[in-house]
Amino acid sequence: MALFRPKMKLDIFTDLDMKALREQGFDTILLDVDNTIAVPNTGSCDERAAEFINKLKEHGFKVIIFSNNSERRVKMFIGDYDFDYVYLAMKPLPFAYRKAARKAGSVPERTIVLGDQLITDILGANLSGCYGIYTKQLQEKDSRMTAFNRRFEKLIWRYLLHEKM
Ligand SMILES: [Mg+2]
Repeated sequence: MALFRPKMKLDIFTDLDMKALREQGFDTILLDVDNTIAVPNTGSCDERAAEFINKLKEHGFKVIIFSNNSERRVKMFIGDYDFDYVYLAMKPLPFAYRKAARKAGSVPERTIVLGDQLITDILGANLSGCYGIYTKQLQEKDSRMTAFNRRFEKLIWRYLLHEKM
């Protein structure tokens, strides 16, 4: 179960303490899209998400949008913004995480992964040596596949909380 354990838990992405994480030596962040910084499947990069990403950059983070969704979906989210992105990331397979860290000129040890799913975002972070930070889903309604994953997540959380986070 330890592989599913996030290093940190947030209520919402904007709670991320960028300054503290920079001081800890992190320089790159891989950002999940659906239900992490945007409404699943339809949400575009709204003002709050854009401000968050720009603030990350101001703090000196390399930011990569990191999604299992299609290129079309990721581009829909990004719109006119000039963000680096990886689509069809195949999370939780660790290969894409390492490749994304390298693309940012970094290494997994200095790379944060922010996402709302233990069995994709966080599991892959742990498998690849990145620092996985869990954030609560923005919206209850998920795709059917994600809804299926959620049921497992509930079970995993029960174990993790039992072992004390
Ligand atoms: Mg997600």
